[in-house]
Amino acid sequence: MSNAAKPRILTGDTPTATGLHLGHYVGSLETRLRLQDEYDCYFLIANVHAFTTLAEKAGEIRANTLGIVKDWLAVGLDPERSAFVLQSEIPAIAELTFLFAMIIPFNKVMRNPTLKTEIESKGLGETYPFGFPMYAVGQCADILAFRPELVPVGEDQEAHIEMCRDVAMKFNQLYGGVGNRVPADDHARAGSAGENAVFPVPRARIGRVARLVGIDGQNKMSKSLNNAIFLYDEAKVVQKKINSIRTDRPTTTSPLPESNPLSQYIDVFLPAERASQIKADYAAGKTIMDGHVKAEVGAAINALLDPIRSRRAALEAPAAPGRAGGDALVVDVIRAGVKKANAVAEETLMLAKRAMGLDFGRRVVGWE
Ligand code: AMP
Repeated sequence: MSNAAKPRILTGDTPTATGLHLGHYVGSLETRLRLQDEYDCYFLIANVHAFTTLAEKAGEIRANTLGIVKDWLAVGLDPERSAFVLQSEIPAIAELTFLFAMIIPFNKVMRNPTLKTEIESKGLGETYPFGFPMYAVGQCADILAFRPELVPVGEDQEAHIEMCRDVAMKFNQLYGGVGNRVPADDHARAGSAGENAVFPVPRARIGRVARLVGIDGQNKMSKSLNNAIFLYDEAKVVQKKINSIRTDRPTTTSPLPESNPLSQYIDVFLPAERASQIKADYAAGKTIMDGHVKAEVGAAINALLDPIRSRRAALEAPAAPGRAGGDALVVDVIRAGVKKANAVAEETLMLAKRAMGLDFGRRVVGWE
């Protein structure tokens, strides 16, 4: 089936670190890898949103952007099948953000639980810029610009997807002639001016692991909370990080609480049978040395990461005669993805503006 005939997926990552971690892998990347053939996929790097917390570090955002694309390539996302999209190069996203900001209540944005958690866990206090809550509206535009059916994300993003669904439905009701009682799944068919006149109301697809906890055992694994195992971490570093997990068992026969990160990592990274055996041994009060379990979990994670690490290392190597490579290769991949993405996003913007009575001609966006 050609990509144009497939339903679309939009998802992405924010470049606030030089690479992605295990939480991204089990929360979202795995799903993306699985669905690459079935769906027309758009993977977005939210580089404008990275400025909400890193405005003084523009150089870092650029380096992080290139690093994340290298991780995508290293895990097996394929730019031949899926578009890698750079948010700052899609003008329709910025314009839709502005339009959506007009139909979403301010207080609703400020009540978004994901924003509240971020403000707390990142210690943003009252210092965050106006653009910080704005990014929640922007994320509705990131998604709806591609009129996707599915958005594969971790659990922390559910509130954002809910807001995005609300915006789509409100827009359809205000400008697409969709009645207030039409259920979300029927919106795409219910527009007064035909299917394309309204936004399909996208669904979140939560990954195999909804929320991978960080090695601190306190928060979700996160790039900015110093509790992450990165996909590019060397094998020794991975093992050291696993070894640093506190299990706080008073004796070697005490149970391991389910809330402990080691407990979750046993379930997530060891084969199912082996995981249940270890869990049964802990529960039965058998003598267990945590060090042995940590070594086993560390080895399993390293086996998963070995090929990813070596592909990323190869991508770090600069281009040589006859071989593309390094940052130049990444920039080429981004440029190709942006071109494909702008074709879809411009069409969406045109349809939205037409519905709003704002269409006065069609413009062309492209590279020089
Ligand atoms: P972010 O790094 O916040 O831009 O997140 C990118 C994607 O990875 C989103 O779909 C998140 O829900 C997902 N994600 C990030 N951290 C985790 C985690 N610790 N567990 C599960 N999913 C995660």
